[in-house]
Amino acid sequence: MKNYFTEQTNFYGSTSPDKLISDFGSPLYVYNEAILRQRCREVKGLVSYPNFKVNYSIKANSNLELLKIVLDEGLCVDAMSPGEIHVLMAAGFKPEDIFYVGNNVSEEEMRFVVYRGITVSIDSVSQLRQFGKINPGGRVAVRFNPGVGAGHHEKVITAGKNTKFGVNTDYISEIKSILKEYSLKLVGINQHIGSLFMQGEPYIQGVKSLLSVAEQFEDLEFIDLGGGFGVPYRKQDGQERLELKQLGEILSTILNDWVNKYGKEVAFKIEPGRYITAECGVLLGKVYSIKENCGITYVGTDLGFNALIRPAMYDCHHDLEVYRNGSLIKGGESQTVTVVGNICESGDIVAKDRGLPKVDEGDILGIMDAGAYGYSMSSNYNNRLRPAEVLIKEDGNAVLIRRRDTFEDLMRNFL
Ligand SMILES: *Cc1c(COP(=O)(O)O)cnc(C)c1O
Repeated sequence: MKNYFTEQTNFYGSTSPDKLISDFGSPLYVYNEAILRQRCREVKGLVSYPNFKVNYSIKANSNLELLKIVLDEGLCVDAMSPGEIHVLMAAGFKPEDIFYVGNNVSEEEMRFVVYRGITVSIDSVSQLRQFGKINPGGRVAVRFNPGVGAGHHEKVITAGKNTKFGVNTDYISEIKSILKEYSLKLVGINQHIGSLFMQGEPYIQGVKSLLSVAEQFEDLEFIDLGGGFGVPYRKQDGQERLELKQLGEILSTILNDWVNKYGKEVAFKIEPGRYITAECGVLLGKVYSIKENCGITYVGTDLGFNALIRPAMYDCHHDLEVYRNGSLIKGGESQTVTVVGNICESGDIVAKDRGLPKVDEGDILGIMDAGAYGYSMSSNYNNRLRPAEVLIKEDGNAVLIRRRDTFEDLMRNFL
């Protein structure tokens, strides 16, 4: 028997996919507040070390209303662009709650961040020089590449030998001399080894390497261990969750021991993105055609890669649910189909050779675990309108939290 996530979690509260689509249109991002809050609490409780902070990496999903919930749960945030800072300030985050993890930023951008009193993480020796010139005597963090990478796809492995990210540890003495030259205070070091690990080991290895880098600097205020905490995208096949509790216990021991050695109560941070928002989001869409082409059955939907690019970009799996006349279709007549969107490209595929109950025109499809890197990577490709976003509140009612694009949105930047 398969697991049906939305049924197990009462995802749609007092409404239903049919009602949501008829009230708000299709395709539609739907988020569940209770699940979002639960994920925030799980990561906040990861380790027993007292001075521990969670920075939500908002590139995963930066909807204003979701950010307000994350703030209400007491999380801090990572930003990676001035636009993200702008949205974070609007959501109510204070400069001291924001950590800027820049990568190849212009002088203008660096000034934008520094003048707001936001701590910046520097990603290269040359950028540290630039920072020193702009903000001599300032406080700064450096992102190191500890030599260990992890992730579900080469595009999201962000440490190790084959990546643009982080300062190689060979450059530590050069970093130190630039810090001295511009009287900079190195307040923290950070890393991010990659996205979506389901086993704790590579992360723990990365933590250990980062701590050995940290030992080479005196008087750090924080050490940021990075994000990448995975979620099970194959729940219907019984995929297990990342063992957070076990990982947390191992980390707690490592961190407590290390601090005793270092002799100063530094703050430890993590920066999860996906773990916070992936599972609280479902993307709903409609089936408009079923056709056979050379032995393949295509289920044609409005779920184009302009709305959710992950399957096309990373070849990754998202569980699907089928809804008809207000109910979830479970098991039943199984067929193998390829689910595609409405974009003019052959790569516009949601799921290839997927076993599904028999699907009809007019059915609604739900793409599970679409809350992270879903809307935030959506686009107007083909001049499609980006979907609306709806939040199922803890009381079970649905509220619109971002309207669908309009034709005016497609025209507004033309002179
Ligand atoms: C994207 C990113 C994260 C979050 O990654 P997840 O896999 O979503 O947890 C954290 N830190 C940095 C520097 C990132 O670029």
